[in-house]
Amino acid sequence: MAIGRAVILASARLDVAHYFVDPGTEEAEIERLRAARRAVRAELDTLKADLPPDAPAEMAAFIDVHKMLLDDRQMALDTITWIRQRRYNAEWALTAQLDVISRNFEEMDDTYLRERIADVEQVVERVLRALRGSAGLARSASGNGDLVLIAHDIAPADMLQFKTGVFRGFVTDVGGKTSHTAIVARSLDIPAVVGARSAGSLIRQDDLVIIDGDSGLLIVDPSPVILEDYRLRQQESQLARERLKRLKFTPARTLNAEPVELLANIEQPEDCAPALEAGAMGVGLFRTEFLFMNRGDHLPGEDEQYAAYSRVMQAMQGKPVTIRTIDIGSDKPLDAEDYRDGEFTHLNPALGLRAIRYSLSDPAMFRMQLRALLRAAALGPLKVLIPMVAHASEIRQTLAELNKARAELDAKGVAYGPVELGAMIEVPGAALALPLFLRHFDFLSVGTNDLVQYTLAIDRADESVSNLYDPLHPAVLNLLAQIISQTRAAAAWKGRPVEVSVCGEMAGDPSMTRLLLGMGLRSFSMHPSQILAVKQEVLRADPDKLTPLVQTVLSSFEPEELQAALAALG
Ligand code: PEP
Ligand code: MG
Repeated sequence: MAIGRAVILASARLDVAHYFVDPGTEEAEIERLRAARRAVRAELDTLKADLPPDAPAEMAAFIDVHKMLLDDRQMALDTITWIRQRRYNAEWALTAQLDVISRNFEEMDDTYLRERIADVEQVVERVLRALRGSAGLARSASGNGDLVLIAHDIAPADMLQFKTGVFRGFVTDVGGKTSHTAIVARSLDIPAVVGARSAGSLIRQDDLVIIDGDSGLLIVDPSPVILEDYRLRQQESQLARERLKRLKFTPARTLNAEPVELLANIEQPEDCAPALEAGAMGVGLFRTEFLFMNRGDHLPGEDEQYAAYSRVMQAMQGKPVTIRTIDIGSDKPLDAEDYRDGEFTHLNPALGLRAIRYSLSDPAMFRMQLRALLRAAALGPLKVLIPMVAHASEIRQTLAELNKARAELDAKGVAYGPVELGAMIEVPGAALALPLFLRHFDFLSVGTNDLVQYTLAIDRADESVSNLYDPLHPAVLNLLAQIISQTRAAAAWKGRPVEVSVCGEMAGDPSMTRLLLGMGLRSFSMHPSQILAVKQEVLRADPDKLTPLVQTVLSSFEPEELQAALAALG
């Protein structure tokens, strides 16, 4: 839960710096803004003076309008108020005020007047450019009061930039619960509501809002009674989290003493610290694509990748680390230009060139990543995980590229270590042809986020069908149970056990823990923030009792029947 003042951010303004200025430096920041305005005024004067004599008269008139907007007293005063009262930096104050003005313009009946917002935007752009030339003042870690970010959409890579913690919560108009934007928000361990449809246009700058991430609720301008109720709930949930911390060093074992592996999902090397803090026994999924996103023409080379993977290996101090090769594509495009306001430039991106398909379409880039991974494997137990693999030809090519990568390192005399190779099972076709994957891979990891998406044909990032995105659909549950039992049974013909874990959002949902344990799952990978809550469920569970109850769940196809069978799990 989060309670705070709304900060409305247009997607186009995500690249504008957002930070708090140090207390006591507000007046200096206001002077920085004034200086930028003066620079723009001089710029507009020069522009007007330099107009050729034959320029149309409207040109000079336009410049005058821009000067008038620049000098608008009310706009200047309101912008300054953001700095004085909230300690926003000048750029943030300007864009916050621009949003307020845009809303006023949107409500105008006259189309001509409504479109004049473009002039205001151009003037603000000029001031923002002028501000870029002046060094910002000291930044403060916190502002006056808690803030909640409201945006139409935020690309997953942009979300990562909010890790520094200015915002207490997020709301986006578009996106599903397992979209990558939501996943990254969850990894920031702050409440978020995604797919709130028109929230961005209904909420106004600085409105007081409550976000209840667990129930997907968003309350705007709450009454004092509701506010008090939520403050209490917030304190209770904080207390519950504190209590969970006591479990950090308790071994994760079920009531019948079976050990359960609880691993962390990470997006960046820095995430290892919270993972260890939560008692993670290793990294079960490092989504490496985030190293590659929004990098323009400067994609990370082998050495930069090696440095990132090494940091993870060193931080995890000998604990096992599973690193996934890039899962670029779909809602995680390489270049932000391919993703604007939730629209993709590809026709059907989730079914298109993503994950291993993408890597195999650029073998040189793929081998570069494999070489960096092989080198990092010299530092500790490293497993390489291949996303979205579905075809025998992809397996063959992946193995061939891995061998080539080893040969390239040998040829250069570069040291590297052994790696286990695993497949993500996230395409129903792969789940139904599991022996193929069991034969060629050392371990499997089930990506339930995609497995649900592809089994039910529901775009996980599309809020208009999010009501149908159902991890508890009988088809999903039966597929999942079958993957787990077939993998466990493979030990007999493989001559050694094959590990299977779940690394989708289901693994981090404590309400699913008993179900997954009853299916035979003993390895879970999730956001570090979920580890202790899932451990608590593990400690209370008795798989011997759960197994027959799960069999009833799996043979329940009618919703009421299924609900009753799930409820019996406790
Ligand atoms: C999944 O699909 O469940 C998964 C873990 O991978 P991602 O969410 O990155 O697609
Ligand atoms: Mg996936």
